Amino acid sequence: MDKIKMTTPIVEMDGDEMTRILWQMIKDNLLLPYIDLKTEYYDLGLPCRDQTDDQVTIDSANATKKYKVAVKCATITPNADRVKEYSLKEMWKSPNATIRALLDGTVFRAPIVVKGIDPCVKSWKKPITIARHAYGDVYKATEMKIPGAGKVELVYTAEDGTETRETVHAFQGPGIIQGMHNLSDSIESFAKSCFNYALDTKQDLWFATKDTISKKYDHTFKDIFQDIFDADFADLFKEAGISYFYTLIDDAVARVMKADGGFIWACKNYDGDVMSDMVSSAFGSLAMMTSVLVSPDGDYEYEAAHGTVQRHYYQHLKGQETSTNSMATIFAWSGALRKRGELDGNQELADFADRLEQASLDTIEAGEMTKDLALITTIPNPTVLSSEDFIKAIAKRL
Ligand code: NAP
Ligand code: MG
Repeated sequence: MDKIKMTTPIVEMDGDEMTRILWQMIKDNLLLPYIDLKTEYYDLGLPCRDQTDDQVTIDSANATKKYKVAVKCATITPNADRVKEYSLKEMWKSPNATIRALLDGTVFRAPIVVKGIDPCVKSWKKPITIARHAYGDVYKATEMKIPGAGKVELVYTAEDGTETRETVHAFQGPGIIQGMHNLSDSIESFAKSCFNYALDTKQDLWFATKDTISKKYDHTFKDIFQDIFDADFADLFKEAGISYFYTLIDDAVARVMKADGGFIWACKNYDGDVMSDMVSSAFGSLAMMTSVLVSPDGDYEYEAAHGTVQRHYYQHLKGQETSTNSMATIFAWSGALRKRGELDGNQELADFADRLEQASLDTIEAGEMTKDLALITTIPNPTVLSSEDFIKAIAKRL
């Protein structure tokens, strides 16, 4: 059989620990036998990030701007323990944060829905994709403890020196205060990424804030979304047969619980943080959750939503067998290959991505799965496979 040809490379960002092991197994068993794989390789494993003073992460983000499609393995975000473990020069920043800042992207997270792993919410039949705004609000806030009576004001000093003041509160006793901000540019990018992704995946888009209470802050989010929708997307949505729906955040939460899924839920930064954990655990497992970073220029970086699965890696190092679920990492690859195929007009490549996903889903539905899924499946007597045997079982079907 001739291997599928590629014209443009995908940016390949390798990673750490157990997911780095899975990465190689996926390439060896599921990709290289079928595709003349063209990638531009960046090693984001912690040793290489340290060696290059994290330049490799920046280079990989710039390469993503050039080639438009990247696939990323999970990586360690160093903390004090990791600095010791890897004798690091510095506590390097999270690669995801670095890449997100350079691409100015929005992260879309969607569960992989498969028969036999049922969501806790009975009405959910199709995936719910969470789009989280990744800039500002409470994540870039300034806070103060107020020791006692006194007045707190917001003061804006324009470049020409003119001041605008607003009293926050005249304290009679001790309390607390927080000042937060966001940027119109960032909200606009977020809105465009969401509208584009809805068109791309042909799903309705929901957005919600608390604009009735926050009449300037949250209302600005609502207005920017509506203005961009009316100006650039209303006709395209109509053509695609999808809709944009705005409501209050509490109403959205109530509706989500009764919906059957199949839509994108755009969330402000804090709402997205909280709701993505709720949605992912209700759908079953972090190992069945994909994640894609989409920039307003239409660059795509695909990854798994989980981390490097450190505990399994230490088992692996001791020579013990592991049963780590590779679904999210496989779907990161299939997502990137499909997008590459679409952008290059390479139908064979896009079709391969579909077949790879189908073979993976069929494997689980046939009762062959890793331990994490065997614990929660409704399929009777599942076969628990090791990390490698699970990938080989998919390869057999593929
Ligand atoms: P984790 O790697 O997501 O793993 C936490 C636990 O979840 C595992 O111990 C395992 O549970 C279960 N799990 C996660 N993925 C699984 C999979 N594919 N198959 C089976 N079980 C899975 O989170 P962590 O241990 O807190 O973090 C490890 C490292 O990952 C950290 O250094 C962190 O910085 C990094 N991280 C990276 C990313 C990213 O690159 N996007 C995201 C998050 C964390 P059991 O132990 O019970 O089997
Ligand atoms: Mg969270």
